[in-house]
Amino acid sequence: MRPEILFPLFASVTSLPGVGPRLSTAIEKLAGSNVIDLCWHMPNGLVDRRYSPKILDAVPGAIATITVQVIEHHPPRIRRLPYKVTCSDDGGVIDLVFFHARNDYLQKILPVGETRIISGKVEHFQGNIQMSHPDHVVKPEEAEDLLTVEPVYPLTAGLTSKPLNKAIRESLKLATPLPEWQDPAWLEKIKGPSWFDALTKSHAPEDDSDLSFDAPARQRLAYDELLADQLALSIVRATQRKKSGRRIDNDTGLLEKAINALPYDLTNSQKVSLDEILEDMAEPLRMLRLLQGDVGSGKTVVAYLAMLRAVENGAQGALMAPTEVLAKQHFKTISELANGVGVKVGILTGRDKGKAREELLGQLADGNISIIVGTHALFQQDVKFNDLALAVIDEQHRFGVHQRLMLADKGAAADMLVMTATPIPRTLMLCAYSDLDSSRLTDKPAGRKPVETRALPNSRLEDVVGRLETAIQTGARVFWVCPLVEESELVDLKAATDRHAFLNRRFPGRVGLIHGQMKGPDKDKVMAAFAAGELDILVATTVIEVGVDIPEASIMVIEHAERFGLSQLHQLRGRVGRGNQSSSCLLLYAPPLGETARARLNILRETDDGFRIAEEDLRLRGAGEMLGTRQSGLPVFRLADIVKHQYLMMAARDDARLILDRDPALTSERGKALRILLYLFEKDSVVQTLRSG
Ligand code: ADP
Ligand code: MG
Repeated sequence: MRPEILFPLFASVTSLPGVGPRLSTAIEKLAGSNVIDLCWHMPNGLVDRRYSPKILDAVPGAIATITVQVIEHHPPRIRRLPYKVTCSDDGGVIDLVFFHARNDYLQKILPVGETRIISGKVEHFQGNIQMSHPDHVVKPEEAEDLLTVEPVYPLTAGLTSKPLNKAIRESLKLATPLPEWQDPAWLEKIKGPSWFDALTKSHAPEDDSDLSFDAPARQRLAYDELLADQLALSIVRATQRKKSGRRIDNDTGLLEKAINALPYDLTNSQKVSLDEILEDMAEPLRMLRLLQGDVGSGKTVVAYLAMLRAVENGAQGALMAPTEVLAKQHFKTISELANGVGVKVGILTGRDKGKAREELLGQLADGNISIIVGTHALFQQDVKFNDLALAVIDEQHRFGVHQRLMLADKGAAADMLVMTATPIPRTLMLCAYSDLDSSRLTDKPAGRKPVETRALPNSRLEDVVGRLETAIQTGARVFWVCPLVEESELVDLKAATDRHAFLNRRFPGRVGLIHGQMKGPDKDKVMAAFAAGELDILVATTVIEVGVDIPEASIMVIEHAERFGLSQLHQLRGRVGRGNQSSSCLLLYAPPLGETARARLNILRETDDGFRIAEEDLRLRGAGEMLGTRQSGLPVFRLADIVKHQYLMMAARDDARLILDRDPALTSERGKALRILLYLFEKDSVVQTLRSG
């Protein structure tokens, strides 16, 4: 249960004075529905209203707050002219200028003969001093409130700054000092403010430096958020690990036999990763490990070998892929290898129905099948294993790590290996997956040739098609990718369909089309035709993004490359260059290229190192925008910036570990305060775990 001290912060924004239904809808869209969400809504600018000159001294262009007498109103004679109000102080005259104003309103706020304080930008216009649409017009007794630095907040459609600023001021009134959860010695050392002071200060910037990511108040709040996150992850992980695992350490020589039977030597990092996995499996704890490796780095065989370890321990292994196409491909690879060492492999997808499915499930339940490859279908209720010891999940970006513990739940204490072809930058790794152990495949299988990468404006389309003609004559096969614009799959589809028709006119009968809306069997058919060489060109939306292995494909054309993220382009490019012919990647873009898009394409031309590309991607786009981050379960921070607060992230991780080492149930004085921190950042379910664990 949420501690009482936080109740006011978790009240609805509608409870704030002045926030009615219309305003609250806009606020909810912008920040969130609770008072705390407004507190977290940080200013990104400021207006200094402390400058209060006489009219004649006011510097043109400056924001000034001036005390004036209202002299005369001049309503416009025709509508498109402005309404002017002439004011003065002892010596100067200023015109307040309003376009499309309501006369009665202006007469009400600026009564002739009265003193008013106006604040806004002073301009000199045709020899006159004027102020268009003052930001504020108040009575003299409100001067003090006005003569300050006003924070400026990000807005959304339907929300203007005045009511938002007021709502935020009201919400801050509900914040109270909270028990200190940060290490007091550390706070002392960095001269860090308390949570309450940091919050107050963040909303009362005095100059631009107060708005920056490394302003002490902003850092403090960011650190709170990161610590809450790291602590929550560490608690989840600790609970996970506590669920007793089992030792899978029997070595019957099967692995060695299988390795010797491979048509190639394992790369060094395949060996290292396999060892790490086997060591984890041998521990009595539950494994939760991430295997990262670029496209084509050879993750599948590592997973296969790890599953064999389960098999030689009398148990089973399961490999889940995000699509049917991939499941089939894995099945093909793995069953060929496994049959050679006498291990039976099955496949289960959503397409399997009726008798065949029943029979398969029977064999899985009685242990006849040792390794199963499949799609989401493996999650189905009636899928029962005889004894699942290792669950492997391929391409976790499609699934989201933390949600996918389900498969592991099919086996008593099953170990879990998650594979991803999108190398995760170190920082993200720390923040989002610090609860996972990780292995990295950093070297590529021998014999891979680099893919020649070029960027061309789309006006060169004809040249590209001409080049394809020549290449296809010498047996090349081509992937042609049309971008996915997430808002509308139908629009994407149209682009791909049009391109297919266009290319088909040039290469009659030799062009296939594959997209996400197609039924499984149809996709397979097209894929198979392309693999068999019955098609020379495969036009695709990004369904081919993940995992597809067609060694004969040697050319990749990507349209509107500027719309893809760096990692995504890298992944797409990884579809070619798998065979022994030299290959190329053509990035077609719509000019003019923005700075970021240009940087992206340059990096891609420069390097083929997925880990470096991932770092650059993060740097260029910021964590929030990394494509697919939402789906992948990456946290979205409100106060912290994963890129700019890297150092805080590391500190928070270490801090979280230390805290849990010393006080695993969070019962000490600081522990209790940390519970409040967890609630403050809505990690309620995690605190619940603490209580029950
Ligand atoms: P990933 O899933 O990491 O993208 P795959 O497991 O699909 O990569 O492997 C890509 C290709 O490389 C496959 O054809 C596989 O047989 C091959 N391969 C894997 N490991 C090696 C190796 N050590 N040497 C040569 N080829 C390898
Ligand atoms: Mg793969």
